[in-house]
Amino acid sequence: MTKHEIKAIIDQTIKEFNKSPSFESSSAKGKSPAHACSTIHIGSANKWLCSDVEEAVHNAQRAQQVLLKSNLEDRARFISAMRDASRLHAKSLAELAHTETGYGSTAHKVLKNLLAADKTPGLEDLGTSATSGDDGLTLVEMAPWGVIGSITPSTNPTSTIINNAISMITAGNAVVFNPHPGAKRASQEAMRILNEAIKSAGGPETLLTTVNEPTLQTGNDIMKHPEIKLLSITGGEAVVAQAMKYPKRVIAAGPGNPPVIVDDSANIAYAAKCIVDGASFDNNVLCVAEKEVFSFSNITDELIKEMTENQGAWLISGSDIDKVARTVLTEKEGVYAPNRNFVGRDASFILKACGISFYSKPRLIIAEVPKDHPFVMTEMLLPVLPIVRVKDIDEAVENAIIAEKGNQHSAMIHSQLIGNLTYVATALDTTIFVKNAPSYSGLGFGGMGFTSLTISTPTGEGLTSARTFTRARRCVLKGDLRVV
Ligand code: NAD
Repeated sequence: MTKHEIKAIIDQTIKEFNKSPSFESSSAKGKSPAHACSTIHIGSANKWLCSDVEEAVHNAQRAQQVLLKSNLEDRARFISAMRDASRLHAKSLAELAHTETGYGSTAHKVLKNLLAADKTPGLEDLGTSATSGDDGLTLVEMAPWGVIGSITPSTNPTSTIINNAISMITAGNAVVFNPHPGAKRASQEAMRILNEAIKSAGGPETLLTTVNEPTLQTGNDIMKHPEIKLLSITGGEAVVAQAMKYPKRVIAAGPGNPPVIVDDSANIAYAAKCIVDGASFDNNVLCVAEKEVFSFSNITDELIKEMTENQGAWLISGSDIDKVARTVLTEKEGVYAPNRNFVGRDASFILKACGISFYSKPRLIIAEVPKDHPFVMTEMLLPVLPIVRVKDIDEAVENAIIAEKGNQHSAMIHSQLIGNLTYVATALDTTIFVKNAPSYSGLGFGGMGFTSLTISTPTGEGLTSARTFTRARRCVLKGDLRVV
């Protein structure tokens, strides 16, 4: 065949193709089917910041397929690169989160980012189990779900992304995140840094995807997407309730309102320090943070004195309590909620807004109130800590259970009596229970154990880790492979 003849065949083929009806209708909209396909599936396959949920799911799915084909040594290298990058950028991410949300303190957000980078478990969490006997050998291996949909909060935006990303990728998954719209820049920057780290370690570029403009709608689109079989929800009551409406597996890390009990055997000076340290950390936005104190009457004066004189707490009383309540809380038909303008703000910002004079730079506001005061019964997420006097351990437990509102989240106690430590731990039945330490010790910060920023409470998985985001698969071999 001559060159001439070949060219004639090509020209004829193109002519025929251009006549095809599907091409005509698509080209009328300015796109051929091949082009439309390449726009979504090829041209943008390496995009982690996507225009819509469909693209975000698709790109995450492709990356997860690549992850599945890589070996565990590769995966360990990706995780290690994510940890290094998170450490390197811990400060800039903290600054970004603080600037964007106005919540908490940059220094404490740095610590949360480092905690997530260092103490989120890796591949060691996925241990395989083996059972051998007369019938042979059975293995149970932990397998990925595929693409996980993760909804993240405004209160710990970057540390939750770091923690979730390490856990979920360790388990072999990819993730489509829907960060809180009020923390989207910081959250997206954390994702960019982590994706870059994975890429620089030789991994796929889109294991963590999201949309340009996360909204409640995109969150729901992710929750209902048929290719997303597992949801990880970190947030308040409304988002947990919303996720539960979808007929799929939900790991829900919901709200808390953690009580702390102080009995009269406690080391009061130490208890005062722990409580102020925990309740003022990141201006109280952590879900595990001390939110109300039940202290024995006979040591309450001493506790308050230690908190105010030695630990930087500012005591308010009388009409000032009402002023603060009117300022930091909103009320609708008897239901209180925190005023978002004061969530995670400094104690001095709140005192100034209430017109209450103070000196120095208090790190926490404390107030003695009755057991049913809205300060006690509302998860405020700001540095105002109510203190309620109780006569004994039974009254403390009874009121702490009411204040915890069945969240089964976190609680603390300060006591030297083994009987009380055991009784309260059992009675409160929370996911995290901390004895004689600040609340954040329960997250592995100054306490033993790994960390998680997604503490699954209503669905019961507890502190989540890579293993939480896996499916157990059993493989049975009849008769063979025993060595004994
Ligand atoms: P939030 O509930 O306002 O938002 C959390 C996430 O849910 C955000 O991404 C938000 O956009 C999304 N969301 C909220 N309502 C939704 C709906 N109807 N449909 C779809 N998406 C929705 O919470 P926040 O202020 O960002 O975070 C603080 C809350 O989260 C507190 O209640 C705190 O206790 C809880 N929290 C729990 C944990 C935990 O591990 N258990 C960790 C951090 C925060």
